[in-house]
Amino acid sequence: MPSPNSDTTGDGGIHIRNVSHRYGKGDNEVTALGPVNLDVDPGAFLVLVGASGCGKSTLLRLIAGFEAPSEGQVQVSGSAPSPGVSAGVVFQQPRLFPWRTVGGNIDLALKYAKVPRERRAQRRDELLDRVGLESTADRKIWEISGGQQQRVAIARALAAETPTFLLDEPFAALDALTRERLQEDVRQVSAESGRTTVFVTHSADEAAFLGSRIVVLTRRPGQVALDLPVNLPRTGVDPDDLRQSAEYTELRAEVGRAVKAAAA
Ligand code: ADP
Repeated sequence: MPSPNSDTTGDGGIHIRNVSHRYGKGDNEVTALGPVNLDVDPGAFLVLVGASGCGKSTLLRLIAGFEAPSEGQVQVSGSAPSPGVSAGVVFQQPRLFPWRTVGGNIDLALKYAKVPRERRAQRRDELLDRVGLESTADRKIWEISGGQQQRVAIARALAAETPTFLLDEPFAALDALTRERLQEDVRQVSAESGRTTVFVTHSADEAAFLGSRIVVLTRRPGQVALDLPVNLPRTGVDPDDLRQSAEYTELRAEVGRAVKAAAA
């Protein structure tokens, strides 16, 4: 098992200080988020959970550095986040280049991440291996399933050696079985890579299965309603056993109640 942060640069700790975010101007102004204060330890798996429209994606975009907060400060590894540098991001849709092969999509990400040409082939194979796609490198994107496409998107997000890994409802469009498999993979990949992971979902099940810490947001403007450390084992556990354990079942129910109360 690699040591924490073995394939990343920077510690990946996230600091969110008095952050609020607004969209629009004048009569159209909407306060989407805040104020929020959060400190996320390097290597943590934070799940942000809350009802639709409560500001989860907004917070994720601020951590990714896609937008700057209207108020307050976001820091990743001690600096203001820079898009594509601080974090690899996975969205609900895979957003791959359909005319390229699976391997070609990863190659492009490695090139963009300035991985030297002579190291790219090996790194591509390692990444595809990590997401269980080692035999599909030469297939076109339209030849693989939706679940496999999302695996490519995960491998692509890991291509840049960023200390943080951000996922915005990445499995919402997948069938239940594929979703469960990918949840298991992301849980493992995150633990193995040692990256600080932030995962957005509206599902209490998903939050309870994935998180080493679960933050429930109130309805808009999203604020922290509940901040829950999770003590379920991160490695060396059978996912089916975990899903059937009393601890998981209790946690799922607690998160479900909190999400409902926070949305009221
Ligand atoms: P969630 O991810 O929890 O569903 P979002 O962060 O996407 O919530 O959105 C929070 C609120 O901000 C919603 O009311 C949404 O309509 C609004 N919002 C999000 N993005 C924009 C935008 N670019 N312009 C205007 N309003 C936005």
